[in-house]
Amino acid sequence: MGAHPDDMELEAGGSLAKFAKKGYDVYLLILTSGGYTDINGKTYMDDQLKEEAVQATKILGIKDVIFLDYHTKDLPVNGDVISRVDSLINELRPDIFISHHPFDSHQDHKAAAEIMFAVSRQGRVKNVLSGSTLPYRPNVFAFRPQFFVDITETIDTKINAIRAYKTQYQKFGGEILVEHVESMARHYGWAMGYEYAECFEVIRMDDSIWE
Ligand SMILES: [Zn+2]
Repeated sequence: MGAHPDDMELEAGGSLAKFAKKGYDVYLLILTSGGYTDINGKTYMDDQLKEEAVQATKILGIKDVIFLDYHTKDLPVNGDVISRVDSLINELRPDIFISHHPFDSHQDHKAAAEIMFAVSRQGRVKNVLSGSTLPYRPNVFAFRPQFFVDITETIDTKINAIRAYKTQYQKFGGEILVEHVESMARHYGWAMGYEYAECFEVIRMDDSIWE
């Protein structure tokens, strides 16, 4: 569950592609529609970002992408959004739920983490993970990843999905963004002896994950 289009590709694209390749049904829930005006006055349209999201999810092998269309930069944490995500949890019954970190520097990411905690209450989702979209997004002292996924086989797929977000790719410097994403995956891979890895902070994990 990403606050914005492109969040989960950055945070977990390699893992999502790996799970899809293994035959799991992977769904992407995007809470805001993504359109916004940046600090330089450039406007990104909802439709354009949504279209890019659809392309990216196809690349990753994601089964379906669901948009809840809240306003970017103003994602609420209230009964409305929680009950809408609750209904999706009832319908999809996810084994693993990945979203943002509660100490992320973006208010929408923070809100998404809170929504994740609310809907996964009392074991409704048994495995809950928080990640980081870009380096230093969550407070570096707060983000303590313990769960590492070897994405050596899917790093190229992840990068292709990131390139599919043409507007965001350009905004973050094109191939410079790709270099940062690749370096981050290399950095985390080093910890485990993998070439590339993504990592997550474990909020909750059930032993059925090993079955
Ligand atoms: Zn975001």
